[in-house]
Amino acid sequence: INQAVSKEKNMKDKPVFERPYDRKPQKLLNKVAIITGGDSGIGRAICIAFAREGANVAIVYRKHTEDAEETKKLVEEKGTKALLIESDVSKETNCTDIVEKVLKEWGKIDILVNNAGVQFPQEEVEDISSEQMKQTFEINIFSNFYLVKAALPHLKKGSSIINTASVVAYRGNPLLLDYSSSKGAIVAFTRTLSGMLAEKHIRVNAVAPGPIWTPLIVSTFSKEHQRKFGKKTPMKRPGQPAEVAPAYVFLASEDASYISGQVIHINGGEPVNG
Ligand code: NAD
Repeated sequence: INQAVSKEKNMKDKPVFERPYDRKPQKLLNKVAIITGGDSGIGRAICIAFAREGANVAIVYRKHTEDAEETKKLVEEKGTKALLIESDVSKETNCTDIVEKVLKEWGKIDILVNNAGVQFPQEEVEDISSEQMKQTFEINIFSNFYLVKAALPHLKKGSSIINTASVVAYRGNPLLLDYSSSKGAIVAFTRTLSGMLAEKHIRVNAVAPGPIWTPLIVSTFSKEHQRKFGKKTPMKRPGQPAEVAPAYVFLASEDASYISGQVIHINGGEPVNG
């Protein structure tokens, strides 16, 4: 990781999806996890990290590309199983189908990671259409609700739900009104749901990444913006997907058995209020 992040060119060309470890993995042995947005960026790193800890992973993504196949391969190289599910999680019936497919394959669900998300190009408020606002909310937050509802009857004591929020939920971004608002909703959703499920011993937490070097950034930001990306953080660099994934492993594992309703901030040291 240190080598990768210190080589700026390498970092910008290629996101780093995996950390080098010498520890024997087993924090998630025989667990079954659903990971939305699992074929790319942060989600791919989560799939690899979970597989390394012994979990079978259902990799959910919007459109089938070689990224999905590559992620499946990387998971299977760790010795666990991967199930590829192409689905639009902004539709409730699709979320029900995802849960049914996973139950059919593995008979249980232990971990739900609501990580799929979209970010439309930055715009002034006058230029953001109601349609875009609606779509952002449908993909970024309604999907979380649909998947939780579908999975809940099958989640046993000790299960873990982890939602991907963002630093912009706390400090906003003047050109990402729809995105920032949807991420704020994820924080409130996480905290509220945690209280509702605590007696069932189902934990609900969120991770709020700062600027992370993923394909989303490469494909949606201008070269100029890419050059500046992450430079305002105290660490003066963007993070790598592999630097975000361990927090999901922790929150999914027994190590976090008394942690619920919390948000872990992974943002290069930016102080966050709230
Ligand atoms: P990415 O573009 O690499 O991954 C996004 C994933 O979401 C893809 O796998 C895509 O298939 C999936 N997806 C999008 N729409 C979907 C839909 N309708 N149905 C199913 N899947 C869908 O981006 P990323 O940066 O890895 O983002 C992952 C999560 O992290 C997102 O929720 C994003 O908002 C959040 N996040 C990213 C950053 C960052 O700087 N990269 C910062 C904070 C939060």
